Amino acid sequence: MNAAPPEHEVKPPAEDAASVIDTSKMNEGQRAALEMTEAARDGASEKGTFVGGLFMGRCDLDRVFPFPEQSATDKDQGDAFLQRLEKFLREKVDPDAIDRTGEIPDDVLAELGRMGAFGIKVATQYGGLGLSQTNYSRAAMLLGSYDANLTALISAHQSIGVPQPLILFGTEEQKKKFLPRVAKGEISAFALTEQGVGSDPATMTTRAEPTADGKYFTINGEKLWCTNGVKAGVIVVMAQTPPKIVNGKEKKQVTAFIVDMDTPGVEVTHRCHFMGLRALYNGVVKFTNVVVPRENIVWGEGKGLRVALSTLNTGRLTLPAACAGASKKCLEIVKKWSNERVQWGANIGKHAAIADKIARMAADTFAMESMTLLVASMVDKDKKADIRLEAAMAKMWGTEAAWRIVDDTMQIRGGRGYETADSLKARGEEPIAVERFMRDCRINTIFEGSSEIMRLFIAREMLDPHLKVSGAALDSRKPMGERAKAGLKAGLFYAGWYPKTWLPFGSSIPSGVPGKLRGHLSYAARTSRRLARRLFHAMARNGPKLEREQVLLGRFVEIGAELFAMIATCSRAASLVKKGGESDGADVLSLADYFCSSARLRIDRLFTGLSQNTDRAGYKLAQTVLKTDVPGLGDGFIRG
Ligand SMILES: Cc1cc2nc3c(=O)[nH]c(=O)nc-3n(C[C@H](O)[C@H](O)[C@H](O)COP(=O)(O)OP(=O)(O)OC[C@H]3O[C@@H](n4cnc5c(N)ncnc54)[C@H](O)[C@@H]3O)c2cc1C
Repeated sequence: MNAAPPEHEVKPPAEDAASVIDTSKMNEGQRAALEMTEAARDGASEKGTFVGGLFMGRCDLDRVFPFPEQSATDKDQGDAFLQRLEKFLREKVDPDAIDRTGEIPDDVLAELGRMGAFGIKVATQYGGLGLSQTNYSRAAMLLGSYDANLTALISAHQSIGVPQPLILFGTEEQKKKFLPRVAKGEISAFALTEQGVGSDPATMTTRAEPTADGKYFTINGEKLWCTNGVKAGVIVVMAQTPPKIVNGKEKKQVTAFIVDMDTPGVEVTHRCHFMGLRALYNGVVKFTNVVVPRENIVWGEGKGLRVALSTLNTGRLTLPAACAGASKKCLEIVKKWSNERVQWGANIGKHAAIADKIARMAADTFAMESMTLLVASMVDKDKKADIRLEAAMAKMWGTEAAWRIVDDTMQIRGGRGYETADSLKARGEEPIAVERFMRDCRINTIFEGSSEIMRLFIAREMLDPHLKVSGAALDSRKPMGERAKAGLKAGLFYAGWYPKTWLPFGSSIPSGVPGKLRGHLSYAARTSRRLARRLFHAMARNGPKLEREQVLLGRFVEIGAELFAMIATCSRAASLVKKGGESDGADVLSLADYFCSSARLRIDRLFTGLSQNTDRAGYKLAQTVLKTDVPGLGDGFIRG
């Protein structure tokens, strides 16, 4: 039951939080949240990651150049499925009707099940299509360009529902029992969130108590916002199991259970409705004395949070893929409209204010897809690859860029962007559903790890090498002797490492990269060292307090994300130019060049913000606003 599953590298457990992070100044709630997520955190991989390297001043371009190409076989397999999926979507799925009625027709779900859309990554031996992560991402892109409700259903089912945790952690018996069911179309879901549990699992109240003979667990509690919960046949539920005593201290345990929805005591008490994703089968699921066999535990007792976090590490790659699809669709809408709409004597695309938006949309869409495909290829190359940081960045950067893109699309479509597709149709205009796209898109920066949590998550990993080296020296709870010894060790490390961050040369630019992009890559390598240096300065200045400087840390994270986006963009553009044959690739080079130049300006502003900002004043002001009625803000409106 608890044997290490083959698909997932069981990395060395991360150090006990208490050994690297000084939690002494935290309140009880902060400490509990931190200790629980730290305990569920995978240890760093031996090789280090590409993005992790950027924060340490290492820009290993060889790891991402040349841009990984799909093999012909893999591409053919993907193409065959994508063609079927596209034909079906075009002919049988009406996204506006789904949005209007809030229902996905049963025959649509049945046909998706028959074509294998519910088991894209499930191995063929368990009844799935056995396609690669890249092909799965391509499918998510296609779906994301067409219907967000179907995308969310398929993603919640496959990326976080039963298939993904079982592919990663399931025993052979579990795989044989559940994967054929879910691959053929039985809908699944993932239930972590509760009334008091959003971004903080330490406050979980759903409990699973073992029966006297230890063969079963009885689950009681209520889960909120469970996507697919209303239609699901089987779901993964996170529940607290009895605590363990570790080093004399009680440690909360979270365990993942597979639960059949027809088990007595499982009840969907409410279907939730949202601003967008109107046909999401999302509900409140209540568990009253639900008895589940021990065999249904995923991976092992107390490993539930690691299951959830590891599942999401790859699972959250679906969102940037879907966002890339939606962004391409937006670009198509904007291209058509900007070429045909004439105002003030010219096509609106000729007005600089609109052209500026179009250029940014195109560049960001290209970057988003480049990051997504690059990370997907890392998974395909090595199923055990540590892609936590890359996937989190793709999610954070991609969902935020997609929101800007939808917003710009609405602005460019003007009043028609704000009008519903049905209303446009009723008065004889083309029913272009920008309004629906916008409603559907907004949630992406909130679920599967909100943008704020992604920044914290990336910041934690970004600081990890430093915490390992110098955490003990800065830890006020440790005896002076121990701190001094740790300080000496840290000093030795930094004496070797720090001067290197000042070196003007470093990573060599891979051969064959077009001249226009080489300068950007040199900049990325140089800036990675500058980033590492500035991060070190911030650590030296702030000590353990840096952990509380979320906005400052966020800037470091954003610089890293912009660098990653630049590098992924250059790598893919170089590969497209090389493949271009007849064409000289001028257009794609201009696109990549524009993206990199814009990213460099953003990076400059972020660096400036490291030393010139209003962070402290803003924090203080926010606390005042939260506590008092500041004169001028507290009147003149209808109070609730
Ligand atoms: C449509 C929809 C579908 C969903 N599907 C599922 C599902 O299938 N399964 C499931 O388990 N859950 C699901 N969720 C829940 C979703 O994952 C949560 O909404 C999300 O985790 C955020 O939790 P919350 O809404 O409670 O926000 P909170 O955690 O209360 O956060 C509120 C705000 O504070 C920020 N914040 C929180 N903590 C910190 C911090 N330490 N530092 C800085 N900022 C912070 C957040 O980023 C957010 O902006 C779904 C939600 C929605 C709306």
